[in-house]
Amino acid sequence: MHIFEFQKMMSRLFFHRDYERGVEETYCWLVEELAELGEAIEGNDREAMEKEFADVIAWLASLANIKGIDLERAAIKKYNGKCPKCNQSPCQCTV
Ligand SMILES: [Zn+2]
Repeated sequence: MHIFEFQKMMSRLFFHRDYERGVEETYCWLVEELAELGEAIEGNDREAMEKEFADVIAWLASLANIKGIDLERAAIKKYNGKCPKCNQSPCQCTV
């Protein structure tokens, strides 16, 4: 499954609720899920990490759906096989 397909699936499942909730509240959910991911990483709990990574990409997709952003297109546009800053692969940035 591509990122695009995942985002479409999330739209089928949740767009009606995401749209009603709106951008600000959906963004807050994403931030909350990122905090939970941080806790899972800190606890070094692999099962919890998997669950939280899934929640983060799900809420990211929901937010992108509300704003009409194609995540896969945006990601490939910026990160097209090389570092967007130094244009090298692998990245040769010093900072
Ligand atoms: Zn670089």
